[in-house]
Formats: sequence, C-alpha cells, structure tokens
Amino acid sequence: MSLIAPQPGIMDIALYQGGAAHVDGVANVIKLSSNENPLGPSPKAVEAVRNSAAGIHRYPNTDHAPLRAAIGEMTGLNPEQIICGAGSDEIISFLCQAYAGPGDEVLHTEHGFAMYRISALAAGATPVEVRERDRITDVDALLAGCTERTKLVFVANPNNPTGTMICAAEIARLADGLPQQALLVLDGAYAEFVDGYDGGAALIAERDNVVMTRTFSKLYGLGGLRVGWGYGPQPIIDVLNRVRGPFNLSTTALLAAEAAIRDTDYVEHCRAQNSRWRAWLAKALAELGVPSDTSCANFILARFASQTEAEACDAYLQTQGLIVRRVAGYNLPNALRITVGDEIACRRVAAAVAAFK
Ligand code: PMP
Repeated sequence: MSLIAPQPGIMDIALYQGGAAHVDGVANVIKLSSNENPLGPSPKAVEAVRNSAAGIHRYPNTDHAPLRAAIGEMTGLNPEQIICGAGSDEIISFLCQAYAGPGDEVLHTEHGFAMYRISALAAGATPVEVRERDRITDVDALLAGCTERTKLVFVANPNNPTGTMICAAEIARLADGLPQQALLVLDGAYAEFVDGYDGGAALIAERDNVVMTRTFSKLYGLGGLRVGWGYGPQPIIDVLNRVRGPFNLSTTALLAAEAAIRDTDYVEHCRAQNSRWRAWLAKALAELGVPSDTSCANFILARFASQTEAEACDAYLQTQGLIVRRVAGYNLPNALRITVGDEIACRRVAAAVAAFK
C-alpha cells in the first residue's frame, strides 16, 4: 500500500459509473442507464472513424482548429472562444484545476452531476451542495450559498438527473448576482435536446463571468470517443488552454466529431425521435402511476412511491433485460432515471413497468 494519501476526490468515481451493458443470463439487454443515443452515431461519423485508421501513427492535431471551425459554423459561435476536451468531463476538470484550489468553494445543485464534486475535490477545493426547489435549480438558493470563497458555480441546464431546466432570464439573474470572483459554468450536455436553446451563448456574449460546456456524448452518439467542448470569454478559454494537454483528443475522436456535427439531417432525426418517444414514455409511465417531471433532456426521472418500490422495479427491469439508473446516490432514493430509448426500448420499459405494477 502506498504511503502517499490520494486526494479524497478520486474515491468518489464509483458514483459516476454508467453501469454494465449486460445482465447475467438475460438476453436482448438494452442499456438505458447513461443517456446515450439509442440510434447510435451518424453513419458519417462511423465512416470518419474508419478513415482515420490510416493516420493513427501520427500524433493528433493539437489546436483542434478543424473541429472548432465546424462547431463554429454549425452554431454561429466564434471558434477562437471554443476549447475541446476529452468529453465535457475534461472541460469541467480544467475549470476546477484552473479556478478552484484549497480553500475555495465550488457550488453545485443538490441533484447536480457527480463530476462537479469529483473534480472540485481532485483540485483540492471544497464542493458545496445547494438545495433545489422541487427538483428544479433554485437561483435564490445558489446566490444565498455563495461566499467570498466561491470560485465556480455549476448548473446543468437541462439538469441531470432531474431533466428539468430553468429559463434564460433566471440564468442571467444568477450570473448577475454572483460575487465578483465567481464564475458560472452552464453545463449544456443536454442543451441540444431543447429546441432553440443556445446553451447560454447569448449570455456569454454580454458577460465575462459565464462559461458553457457541451458534449458529443449525448445527441451526437459519441460517448465512447470522449469529445466535449467549452465556450466562454476569450481570457477564460486562454487560461483553460494552459491547463489542457496538447494531445488531449485523439485523431479519430476529432474527425468523428466533425463529421457528426456536420450531419445535420441525422442530428435532426435523432432529436425528433427523442422528443417523440420521451413524450410517449412519460405518458405511458404516468398512466401506470409512475409520474415524472417534464423532461427537457433524453431521459426521464421516474418517481416511485418509495425507495423500496423503486429498487424492486429496478431489480424487475433487470430481469427483463432493461438496465436503468438508480439515483439514490444523487439523493433521489425513490426515483429511477431512464434514458429515452428507441421505440422498441420504450415499449419494453412501459410493458415491464406495467407487469411490475
Ligand atoms: N454533464 C452532464 C450534466 C452529464 O450528464 C454528463 C454525462 N453524463 C456530462 C456532463 C459529461 O459528459 P461527457 O464527459 O461524456 O461529455
């Protein structure tokens, strides 16, 4: 055993594991526990992965200019203000490394994504959990939770695992009310699922204390390749680039992400199927006595009468080859988070919950 004590944060990684993709002895398993795209990646991204193989003896491009240009073209954002990371996890980690250290506080909401806490701890900072109001981000509580030590405030919008979101005016109120030394990080991992939502880009254009993070892991179906990005005021992006290693993204990942974001027809198709089957699943479960908040993302937080019922349903779903996510670790013991799958998956979930009930 090593005599050198690790940072406590690295112990918490268990909170964040997506779970297995199989159940022993059960056939036709569908994994609905990590909010992945049930339709898979764009065929053009798959082709880019294949084509990249011939060049993988070379180190990857270090400034990610082609991918940043593609993101800029598709979103209207300035590529200079974009930084790419190995998943948005890495951008979250860069933010904590660059802006939070021992003695600093990193705020996140009660049911906020586990990585905020893990990255804050790994940077030596103190994570501070702020209560939500009925599973919705509470701006007043966040503002009240700030101190002179607050450096970062993480808000996922839409939020995971609740699926809820707050409006641009509320986010602006939060940004404008923060103490001068604090930075607001708007995590837009699920922003693409919300029609017309810019993830906070307009707010960033007018402020110097807001950054947003985005990912290719959800709508774009590239979770296994690890590509995410951040966007913010130039001075902040410049700082994050000093924390970033030169080869943080592989050639394959860079090329696949570029192909994925340019394949707008496929992206639209995935978005439309998510909206359609999310509504269907939420209604089907509600009719079975399992309500959920209106979800703005690609999952539903299904609420059961008790923790015992949620756990029993989870166990039953597993016997039916359906892997969903328990969120007791997020202080939601009565709930299960279910990714919106394709039609077959959604129908199987509804049938299994009906049989369980
Ligand atoms: N933020 C939120 C809110 C998430 O749910 C996730 C993935 N579960 C991430 C960030 C990280 O995603 P990735 O690192 O794959 O981009």
